[in-house]
Amino acid sequence: MAPSGASDSLYPLGLSTEESEQLVSTIKDWSIAHGLAVRPPPTLVLSTADPHVVLATTVPVTLFPSPFPRTCFEQAKSIQRAYNQLYAAIAQDEDFLRDIVQEILQVDEFIAELWQVHLKVKEEGYVQSLSLGLFRSDYMVHHSTENGQSGIKQVEFNTIASSFGGLSSQTSKLHKYLSSVDYPLLGTPLSPQSIDLPPNESTKSLAAGLKIAFDAYKRAEAIHDCCVIFVVQDTERNIFDQRHLEYELQKQTPSVPVFRVPYSKIPSQTSIASTPLRQLLYTPPHKPSKVFEVAVVYFRAGYGPSDYPDTSAWQARLQIERSNAVKCPSILTQLAGAKKVQQVLATPTESFSPSMLSQFMKTSTPAEIETLQDTFTDIFPLDESPSGLSARKIALDPELCKSYVLKPQREGGGNNIYRSAIPPFLQSLPESHWKSFILMEIITPPPVHNMILRHGVIEKGGVICELGIYGTCLWDQESKEILHNEEAGYLLRTKGDKSEEGGVAAGFGSMDSCRLV
Ligand code: ADP
Ligand code: MG
Ligand code: MG
Repeated sequence: MAPSGASDSLYPLGLSTEESEQLVSTIKDWSIAHGLAVRPPPTLVLSTADPHVVLATTVPVTLFPSPFPRTCFEQAKSIQRAYNQLYAAIAQDEDFLRDIVQEILQVDEFIAELWQVHLKVKEEGYVQSLSLGLFRSDYMVHHSTENGQSGIKQVEFNTIASSFGGLSSQTSKLHKYLSSVDYPLLGTPLSPQSIDLPPNESTKSLAAGLKIAFDAYKRAEAIHDCCVIFVVQDTERNIFDQRHLEYELQKQTPSVPVFRVPYSKIPSQTSIASTPLRQLLYTPPHKPSKVFEVAVVYFRAGYGPSDYPDTSAWQARLQIERSNAVKCPSILTQLAGAKKVQQVLATPTESFSPSMLSQFMKTSTPAEIETLQDTFTDIFPLDESPSGLSARKIALDPELCKSYVLKPQREGGGNNIYRSAIPPFLQSLPESHWKSFILMEIITPPPVHNMILRHGVIEKGGVICELGIYGTCLWDQESKEILHNEEAGYLLRTKGDKSEEGGVAAGFGSMDSCRLV
């Protein structure tokens, strides 16, 4: 993290060695004591240091809550329900999604396979019409040089495996704790009375979304107990984030049974009842005589090609999609989160009409639609349409490309191409593949000062913050009725201002919380 000219007078940038050590040891211990943790990297796990996988390590976290403009925070929260509604409507519009998929299908095998799963289930007939979204809409602050105002611009909208909700509420609690206990050593300005740390109930709210879907699931006959399964990656490091949601569900009265199913174990641990209802049945490996009926499948895996190494993995996805369980998300909901969809909404082109947003937001007023539009930044296709061809010129220009990021239809961080790397990257690909990418203007938030504690070491300098707002939405895909729609807490991720990617799991970002200013 390089130093920058930005300053925030509240935070002491020159902590003495003793002060740093005190703060670091407080954060390290609080983090482990409260599950603000991840499993260590595989190099350590595979070594003799942790043969039984018992170790946990602290999540990278900022020492202080980063200052964040209150108006931007309120703006992001206030539009989340409208965004939930928008993406629920997109997931219900098969024709629209087919048009999007058609554009990229020949060159993006992963998207093509997802679509195939949907088509197979459609042919047989879907049995479950309820669909659950645990969404997260991500933003950065944009300072307009035209009107001098700050507003938010959307980085992306996540419809599958939106992570860090379980750790985010803990991070807010950590910073609140520090402000009451340890910050006195840093002087009075950081006393709880003088700083505004907004409450963050992301764990409770996301778990509440899962609970609502669990309760809405209708059983034909009460033969088996119902449960929720979390479909997870076989080697997941971000396990405690997921466990926080699980523990919250188990705390409900009556307690909701939750089981973790590694993606590769779907075929051996689940099956479909041979009834017209196609209930999804789950047998815990530790209790082979017990059978549960799965009410909700929560995917924390399955968002990228690496989770589908062979045809049996696609078979597993098909098994879940055709079952009666409520999916979070369904295939159509996952596809609604494609970056191509975001591009079409933000920058309509010749092939997609400009009134797209109002088409999806039929019950909203023009003013409400405008609040969403205000968060869009320029995103161009790279296809052979007139706008695609002019975007190709930008992408290949050694100067113009410096303000852009190139994105494939992928999730999970680490997939984007930035600035000057765009032209050589495109030139290394056949031109027929370019249309599966979108070209997005880079948002440059004003840097602030903070310090990141990563692997026990403090990194100092300018940082850039990305705010995510969670949303939970349950809808009926057939009647188009929305049964539940809530804003569900926030995530603040912070990275060094010279780093391109900001994912905490991808290894570059850190957890943070907002101090509203
Ligand atoms: P993913 O689905 O893999 O998370 P994102 O679109 O969120 O993909 O991109 C990953 C990261 O790249 C973001 O968290 C952000 O740090 C950075 N990024 C993406 N788009 C932009 C943008 N338009 N402006 C600035 N940074 C961006
Ligand atoms: Mg994403
Ligand atoms: Mg992202």
